[in-house]
Amino acid sequence: MPELPEMEIVTRRLGAALPGETVESALAPGINALKTFDPPLHALEGRAFTGVRRRGKLLLLELGDLVVLAHLMSAGRIQLHPKRASLRDKTSRLLLRLPGDRELRVREFGTKQAAWVKVLRAEDADADESFTGLGPEAWPDPPPLRELLDAPRPLHSLLRDQQVIAGVGRTWVDEILNVAKLSPFKRGDDLSDEEADALRAAMVSELGRVIDVYEERVDMPLPEKFPKPTRVHAHHGEPCPQCGTVLEAVFYEDYVMSYCPRDQTEGRVLKDRRLSRLLK
Ligand SMILES: [Zn+2]
Repeated sequence: MPELPEMEIVTRRLGAALPGETVESALAPGINALKTFDPPLHALEGRAFTGVRRRGKLLLLELGDLVVLAHLMSAGRIQLHPKRASLRDKTSRLLLRLPGDRELRVREFGTKQAAWVKVLRAEDADADESFTGLGPEAWPDPPPLRELLDAPRPLHSLLRDQQVIAGVGRTWVDEILNVAKLSPFKRGDDLSDEEADALRAAMVSELGRVIDVYEERVDMPLPEKFPKPTRVHAHHGEPCPQCGTVLEAVFYEDYVMSYCPRDQTEGRVLKDRRLSRLLK
């Protein structure tokens, strides 16, 4: 599930590999993930990559005055492959073919067909609706959180809301809240100044820790599965990395929220699915 750390390392790796490379041909096979039609996809052909950047979980591939904007959502992947894919590969959504038989490939591994791509004019890219209302970056230097999270909603929901703060999702939120020793159900408007500062520090250090791990362990070609340097998320039944207490979890339809009852919920074990309505 690509969140800010995964997209940061993808940006760094593609940013080192792509500039100067020319797109020989551009294809969008299979189920349509291309959300724009003007400029057309073939306008990319013959153009060279000039840069790669990231905003939140969104990736921007720059090709002069055109930009390919990609959101991998929960189960998309982007990879620079040394060989071209078979056109029968049903996961392929965008293929940008490069000289020497190489290929930049966006693939979808989910059942919901959620990953998407847009081809935009560079001058329109930053005004795209995907960026409208997007919160400040969660890393490396987010603003103070006391004001930003001042809403009657649980922290687990607020931190994953890209309109509030951009980059955190279901995996790293559990790690951040554990390091900050805050309950996932604590309301944003109940945070003290000290708690807000601790949460900000935990967010910066945890996202930074994960990026450092990727910097060491993720190289080209980008892997289908990233290593997961988690210590809390989906580690229920194992000891808390802070205090050794057995981690607990609340299970939702399509994900799990893990926490330490001793550090985060004053000893209470919250397993009730009905709590899920509090996280909406
Ligand atoms: Zn603990």
